[in-house]
Amino acid sequence: MGETKTVHSPLVTYASMLSLLTLCPPFVILIWYTMVHADGSLSIAFNYFKQNGLQGLISIWPKPTAVAWKIIACFAAFEAVLQLALPGERVEGPISPAGNRPVYKANGLLAYAVTMVAYVTIWWLGIFNPAIVYDHLGEIFSALIVGSFIFCILLYIKGHLAPSSTDSGSSGNLIIDFYWGMELYPRFGKSFDIKVFTNCRFGMMSWAVLAVTYCIKQYEENGQVADSMLVNTALMLIYVTKFFWWEPGYWNTMDIAHDRAGFYICWGCLVWVPSVYTSPGLYLVNHPVNLGLQLALFIFVAGVGSIFVNYDCDRQRQYFRKTGGKCLIWGKPPSKIEAFYHTTTGEKKSSLLLTSGWWGLSRHFHYVPEILAAFFWTLPALFNHCLPYFYVVFLTILLFDRAKRDDDRCANKYQKYWKQYCQKVPNRIVPGIY
Ligand code: NDP
Repeated sequence: MGETKTVHSPLVTYASMLSLLTLCPPFVILIWYTMVHADGSLSIAFNYFKQNGLQGLISIWPKPTAVAWKIIACFAAFEAVLQLALPGERVEGPISPAGNRPVYKANGLLAYAVTMVAYVTIWWLGIFNPAIVYDHLGEIFSALIVGSFIFCILLYIKGHLAPSSTDSGSSGNLIIDFYWGMELYPRFGKSFDIKVFTNCRFGMMSWAVLAVTYCIKQYEENGQVADSMLVNTALMLIYVTKFFWWEPGYWNTMDIAHDRAGFYICWGCLVWVPSVYTSPGLYLVNHPVNLGLQLALFIFVAGVGSIFVNYDCDRQRQYFRKTGGKCLIWGKPPSKIEAFYHTTTGEKKSSLLLTSGWWGLSRHFHYVPEILAAFFWTLPALFNHCLPYFYVVFLTILLFDRAKRDDDRCANKYQKYWKQYCQKVPNRIVPGIY
């Protein structure tokens, strides 16, 4: 199992799995409770738990109701149908460690457009009020916590009994298999890619849908939407639109090309993205800060700039790879390393590593604008409470860990060629600092 060798050690896996399993579900409920029922204030929430202890947590934990399951089921079924039915160009993913090349249908942007138009239209026509989603959010998160755990167990069983490709297998350790996953490209049938569904069509789509939901809820409550909410929603939607615009590019990234479909990635996309990634918007529903035109515009422009740079880093790497290095990077022929490696079947292959442009500033420079963008769409909340900034802090930790994981994986894959890259581009993330 090529990939398990390069992720964390069993000890770190046990520790992170235990903490993910025991701390993340209550945290999801806590963040929802604090934002919706405790004025977004950690000290109010803290005092409540100081007085009521564990019993307090149990009593605020919403039960997954029938309405919550219905909302999740309708959304998931709608997205699955769009994934299967909408037309899209045939796109080949990168060569997998076992030498396979997954094939996708690039219909993400269309699915995104259909979803957003359908969501706003059913609200406009009075068929369904998105405010209901906000009103049942705790129950929805609670249902997602349970449902996604069951989903991951099914993925584990499928990995053992009916893997979709040779990019699968057991590490011999049940916990590692469940946590990091058994299959790189699990599918239902030939064409329904499960990771495209969990990561893109459910996780990322729910981010956009919830951002709009929070905006509509504020409008329904106050008869208007504050400029802070508008900036937050606009930046999040631009970010998600960029994601779907570039979705075939995402299929070349670590999440899809290297991380197997296990609890780590699937639970994260099905639960953590809808609950934690959207949390700055959730906070703003009850905190309609008025920024004024100048500040609102400044934050918006800075946010769009960060999203653009992040996009341009990803685009530059993919354009460089697609043209085999025969292109211009920042107006000049690129500086590059031809790196040879062996697949798990022993075949010798090569990849090009770009060492100029954004990829010459640091080895993971694209994480800097990613973190800045998250900071800018949280900034409309100003600094009355620290909880809205949780996502930025979490993202920073996640990406610093991810850069280390990616470096380890690439060092293992490219050996001396990766060392050459590190000599040429010594910083991991922040140019000149780290
Ligand atoms: P990428 O997959 O885009 O980049 C890393 C991969 O690129 C490496 O594994 C390697 O793969 C290849 N590579 C590394 N260096 C070079 C180089 N110099 N030239 C060419 N190829 C290179 O990283 P991520 O998946 O982490 O990020 C993709 C996007 O997703 C980014 O925009 C990131 O900010 C975003 N992201 C967002 C997260 C969030 O939670 N909001 C979480 C993670 C990412 P190979 O084996 O092909 O050589």
